[in-house]
Amino acid sequence: MARTWRYDEHTWPEIKQRIAEQPVVILPVGTIEDHGPHMAINTDNVILESMVHTAAQQAPDDMIVLPTVPYGLDEHHMDFPGTISINMHTLIDYVSDVGVSVARHGFEHILVVNGHGSNHPVCDLAARNIVLKTGAICASMSPNAAIDPTLAQDVIGAERKSKPGGIAHACEYETSLMLHLRPDLV
Ligand SMILES: [Zn+2]
Repeated sequence: MARTWRYDEHTWPEIKQRIAEQPVVILPVGTIEDHGPHMAINTDNVILESMVHTAAQQAPDDMIVLPTVPYGLDEHHMDFPGTISINMHTLIDYVSDVGVSVARHGFEHILVVNGHGSNHPVCDLAARNIVLKTGAICASMSPNAAIDPTLAQDVIGAERKSKPGGIAHACEYETSLMLHLRPDLV
């Protein structure tokens, strides 16, 4: 059996085998929204996928990664052409349904990994919903310094060139990562 970390690249018998092994199933949730006049509207998804995919490549026995839910709660960005916004109730239900499906097959550990600030409470509620509906252990986290300024504070604090406030939306943090990951999109 090829050892892939991508959930959807398994056959169903391979998934059955993975269920017996109980890796953590990662569910990335991002968004499509404006990121200043200088970056592509898929910025949050590019950064999010780089984190979870890099982690999974290093530990394919311990985690498998679902396809990213590419759209998020983004009504407050709809003034910018290109943004896609999903109703918050729809998004809670949608993310929950993905996790509940995974839990119904027998996976017991699910981690929702969010890449967009306004999705944070939505993903938290979806994770709680998955726990309540299935008994699986499901948590939610938002590993993006533009969302959580405490993330890797010491490292980022030593590296940053901007003043406080300069690593928020589409600022130094996200632009630096995009220049590293996809300079063609900056
Ligand atoms: Zn962003």
